[in-house]
Amino acid sequence: MSSAKTEEWPCALKNAELPQTLKNARVLCVGAGGIGCELLKTLVVSGFENIQVIDLDTIETSNLNRQFLFRRQHVGQSKAATAANVIKGIKSNASITAHHANVKEAQFGVDFIKGFSIILNGLDNLEARRHVNRLAMAAEVPLVESGTAGYLGQVTVHLKNRTECFECTPKTAPKTYPICTLRNTPDKPIHCVVWAKDLLFSRLFGRSDEVTDLDDPAAEGGPGEQQEGQQSTSNGAEGNGVTQQKDQNTNQKNEEEGRKRKEEEATFFVRREAESPLEYAVRVFQRAYTHDIERLAAVKTMWTKRAPPKPLHLSQLLPEGPAAAIQPVGQAEVTPTSVCKCLGLGNPNEKWSPRDAARVFLASVCAYYEKRSAEVGSLTFDKDDDLAVEFVTAASALRSFNYDIPTQSLFDAKGMAGNIIHAIATTNAIISGLIVIEAIKILAGAPSALRSTYLNEQPSSKRLLGPNKPEPPKPECLACGTATLTLRANAHTLTLGALVSQVLKRHLAVNVPFLTCGDFMYEEGEGLEEDEVETYRALLPRAISKLPGGGLQGGSILNVSDESQHLKFDMIIQHQEDLPEEEAPEGFILEGSAPKPQELQQQNHAAAEEDGVQEKQQVDQRKTHAHKVDASGAVDLISDGEEEVARRQRGSKRGVASGDGEGPSKRARMDQTEEAIVLD
Ligand SMILES: [Zn+2]
Repeated sequence: MSSAKTEEWPCALKNAELPQTLKNARVLCVGAGGIGCELLKTLVVSGFENIQVIDLDTIETSNLNRQFLFRRQHVGQSKAATAANVIKGIKSNASITAHHANVKEAQFGVDFIKGFSIILNGLDNLEARRHVNRLAMAAEVPLVESGTAGYLGQVTVHLKNRTECFECTPKTAPKTYPICTLRNTPDKPIHCVVWAKDLLFSRLFGRSDEVTDLDDPAAEGGPGEQQEGQQSTSNGAEGNGVTQQKDQNTNQKNEEEGRKRKEEEATFFVRREAESPLEYAVRVFQRAYTHDIERLAAVKTMWTKRAPPKPLHLSQLLPEGPAAAIQPVGQAEVTPTSVCKCLGLGNPNEKWSPRDAARVFLASVCAYYEKRSAEVGSLTFDKDDDLAVEFVTAASALRSFNYDIPTQSLFDAKGMAGNIIHAIATTNAIISGLIVIEAIKILAGAPSALRSTYLNEQPSSKRLLGPNKPEPPKPECLACGTATLTLRANAHTLTLGALVSQVLKRHLAVNVPFLTCGDFMYEEGEGLEEDEVETYRALLPRAISKLPGGGLQGGSILNVSDESQHLKFDMIIQHQEDLPEEEAPEGFILEGSAPKPQELQQQNHAAAEEDGVQEKQQVDQRKTHAHKVDASGAVDLISDGEEEVARRQRGSKRGVASGDGEGPSKRARMDQTEEAIVLD
C-alpha cells in the first residue's frame, strides 16, 4: 500500500465534511432497472439526497423478481417515476427527480450533464452507455460505469484526462432481447429459442406460481405492441407529467381489459381434468402457433415494414391425425429422456421440417406428462435434459416457421439455449454497492484510490472481486482522445451547407462526410439513389438548428464519419450568438485538438497503421490473458459481450481448479489487492 493511498483512502471517510459533501452532491443515475433499483436504494441509505434518474422503460412482469422497488400493481408504469416514488418512501427528505425518457434525447445534452457532480450508469445497452460516456467526457463530469451478466459484473471509473474512458477499450455489444420482440416480433433464431425456453417451457412445465411475460395483459400481442409504439411517440412530443398520466390511463384500461383475459390466461396453459396429454399438447400448439399468430397478423399496423407471421395448421402438418403422427417408428420405445429417436429423428445436426417439429412438440409434451408427471410443475430448463432440449428445439422451430426465420438443429438450439444468461439480483446488489464506493471516493477527493472492479463467477484465491487501478486514457480514443471536437457557432444562422463545406471539408479535410445526430442523417458519395441525393441537397440551405429530428442545438453531438478516410469523430455543437467577428471571421470556432488540414492525410495514414498494431496487440493481450488465467487463476477482463462472458466463465472455473495448487508468490500477489470479498 502506498503512503498516498493510506492518506487518501479510507481516511477520507473520516473527513467531517464528507456527509455534507454527499448530501450536496448532484447525482445522475442513468437506468432504473436491475442495477438502478439497487443503486438508488444504496445511494439514499449512504447519505446521498440529490438524485435525478432517467429511464425510458416501463415495468414488465418479468422485472419483478429482482427489480425490488416495483410491485405487481406497477406493471406498465414508468420505471424512473415509480422508483423515485418508492425511494422517497424510504427517505422522505431526499430530492429524487424522475425522467421517463431516452437519455439520448437532446434535452439531456452536455449542458444538462454539466449540472451534475457525478454520473452513475446502470444501463443495459451499449449504444446508450457509449452515448453517456461521450457526454460525460465532453462535460468532464466523472462517470462510474457498470454492467452485469448472470454471476459476472464490473464497475469501472472514468475521469476525463485521468483514466481511460468507457470507449478507450472497444466493447462488443452485449446481447439483450426486448420482451416485446420476443413476444410479438421475433426476427432472429435466438429470439425464438429464448421464447421457447424462457416463456413456453417455463409456462408448461415450471412452477405454476412462477410469473412469466406470457401472463402480461399485453401478452397477446397486437394491442400491447401498438400501445408501446404510441407511448414512445408521446414521450417525444409531451412533457413527462403528461406521459405518466397517459401511462396510468392506458394501464388502467389495460388492466380492465386484461382482467378477464388474465383469468382465462392463468388456467389456459394448465392441463385440464380429463384432458389427455395429447389433447393438452394439441390445445397448446393451436394456441401458440395458430390462434395467437392469426390474432397478431390481423394487427395491420404492426406489419407495414415486414411480412406478417403465418399461422401453422396442425391438420395440414399432420393429416393422419396427431395420435398417428407421434407413433414410434419401428421397434423404438418412448423413454423418459427422449422422443427423437423413436420418431426417427436421431441425427442431432438435422434441421426438422414443420411436420417433424410438430411431431416432436406433441410427443415431448406427452412424454413429460406420461413418463415424468411427478416433475411437471417444478421443472427448470436444463440443457443436459435431452427431452427439454428436444421440446425447446421443436417449439422454437415452429415459431421460426411462423415468422419465416431460419430454424436450428437440435445441436445448435441446445448450444443457444444453454448459453442464455439470466440477470441475478445478488450480482446487481454487489455491483451497485461497488458503484457507490467508487462514487464516494471521487466525491471525497481520493482519486488515487479509485478501482475498476470485476466480479467473478467463482472465487479466485478465495476472492470474488478483482480490483484494478484504472488505465490511463488512450490518446487515439474516439470518445476521449484527440478526435472529439467542439464547434462554437450560432446554430440559428450556420447552415448545413456551411458546416459541410467550411467546417468539415475545408477545415477538417473530410472527404465524403456521413453525419448523424439522433434522427438526423446526412450522406454524400457514390451508391446513393438520385432521390436521396436530392433530399440531402435540399437540407443544405437550412440552419443547423432547423434540421430534421430536432435540429443541432447547443449540447447536440454530431457524429461525423468518413469511410473513405477511416475517419470518425464526434463534434459537440455549442450554440453561441454574437460570436466576435475578429475571433470567428467565418462564423464559427473549432475547438479541441483538431488536426490541421494539411496534416490530415498523413495523420490518417498513420492512424491506419496504428489500428493494425492495435488489433494485433489485442490478440496478443488475449493470448497473454488466457495464459494468465491458467497460471494464476487471476481473472481480469474488460468487456461484457457474450463471448467475453463465456470466456470469463470458462476462465474463472479453470482459475479455481489451478488456484488450489498455487504457489506462495502468486498468492502474495493476489493478497496485495484490496476490497476483496474473502470467502471462508
Ligand atoms: Zn477514451
